[in-house]
Amino acid sequence: MSLSKPFLFRQQALIGGLWCQADSGMLQPIYNPASGDLLGHVPHMGAEEARRAITAAVEAQKAWARRTGHERARVLRRWFELVLQHQEDLARLLTLEQGRPLAEARGEIAYGASFIEWFAEEAKRSYGDVIPSPQADKRLVVIRQPVGVVAAITPWNFPNAMITRKAAPALAAGCAVVLKPAPQTPFSALALAALAAEAGVPAGVLNVVTGDAAAIGEALTASPQVAKLSFTGSTAVGRKLLALCANTVKRVSLELGGNAPFIVFEDADLDAAVEGCIASKFRNNGQTCVCANRIYVQDGVYEAFARKLADAVRKLRVGNGLEEGVSLGPLIDQRAVHKVEAHVADALAQGAQLVQGGTRHALGHGFFEPTVLVEVTQAMRIAQEETFGPVAALFRFQSERALLEMANATEYGLAAYFYSRDQARCWRVAEALECGMVGINTGLITNEAVPFGGVKQSGLGREGSRYGLDEYLELKYLCFGGQ
Ligand code: ADP
Repeated sequence: MSLSKPFLFRQQALIGGLWCQADSGMLQPIYNPASGDLLGHVPHMGAEEARRAITAAVEAQKAWARRTGHERARVLRRWFELVLQHQEDLARLLTLEQGRPLAEARGEIAYGASFIEWFAEEAKRSYGDVIPSPQADKRLVVIRQPVGVVAAITPWNFPNAMITRKAAPALAAGCAVVLKPAPQTPFSALALAALAAEAGVPAGVLNVVTGDAAAIGEALTASPQVAKLSFTGSTAVGRKLLALCANTVKRVSLELGGNAPFIVFEDADLDAAVEGCIASKFRNNGQTCVCANRIYVQDGVYEAFARKLADAVRKLRVGNGLEEGVSLGPLIDQRAVHKVEAHVADALAQGAQLVQGGTRHALGHGFFEPTVLVEVTQAMRIAQEETFGPVAALFRFQSERALLEMANATEYGLAAYFYSRDQARCWRVAEALECGMVGINTGLITNEAVPFGGVKQSGLGREGSRYGLDEYLELKYLCFGGQ
């Protein structure tokens, strides 16, 4: 691996400040999804190592929580600066293990770092409250305290930012973290941990355990010493983990799947809508939980929008993310390719038409042609399931009312987008959409300052923003009598 700073390429897990191998000595190979090349190995750990990490976190958390918010802020600030200082290496590592184009990977590193900076600032602002007392002899106060040890389980689609979005607020609040990164992308996680240690995050405050997801997940969720689980991933795994957390009544934050509608009304600026659609649909090759999944276009502009979108899609360049000018890398693995193929085949079998793409790309591996389908309907799999790939599926609608019914007819409720130039409609539709986040005349909505999260079966809780710190804090009410 050719990084300018080899210390960022870690092939060991981090427990209690020590870089270590699995007890069994077992290793897990990690491959580049663009070439199939072996990148390196990480330890294949299990429940025993996870329990050891919990013990280390419990010890370390006490002293970390005793530090002032200002002190924790300074450490986080150093971590933020180190991440940006090593942006190029971190981006390269990310592209190698995840596939996204290098320019996008640089963007993710900056995005990931922004959470560390944000929560370094918020560390100083976990204000309490003084409540006017209904009884004359009492004084009522609310303070905020860290929840304790946090288990974080993260996905491969944002190997860097999904970690900082959990670890930064947890550390800011005074919690310690046991992180299990996605098996496909452990190197970005380990590099972040190496930089955290260099920044002065004490041993045991941030642990990274790689290996058997189910075994580690069970150990983390079964432990009464873990106070909180923060998970980002599929709804299926989220449901499982939520059930496991019931036994010890943990606080739980879940950021699960989405099935975002992207709506183009007849009064929209079509060129802006096309641009927003490309950004929302094809970012990370369609592999984000807020990617447009169902594109609803009103009858009167349907053909024009489809034509303009297909023209824009034809300009997207597929290739190895390390090459200059590439806009779409490979899908993460063959399972992902099969899902995309199945969704396209199902849609075509049920009457959809192919305008563009639709097949694997000549480059092989996980590469897939960016695809545009028209005349997609609610009966097709694409309407109900997250495709997580480069397929723009265009549905047709007549009235706003019918549209809202279709857009909300899903168990998911993460993001939604729409384009319209009618102010009254903008408020009406934004309020009627059943989801946690709405993009109005934009296809890109995320940054560190806003609350990210979903309703319905897209999750619980919010990440980022001033609300994000609350997920790692408990309220404690103090009642002073005899005053
Ligand atoms: P995806 O299908 O996109 O990979 P997953 O929900 O399977 O999404 O994965 C998200 C994260 O959850 C990954 O870190 C993965 O290893 C982890 N994971 C998967 N299954 C389990 C499980 N049974 N227990 C704990 N973690 C799991």
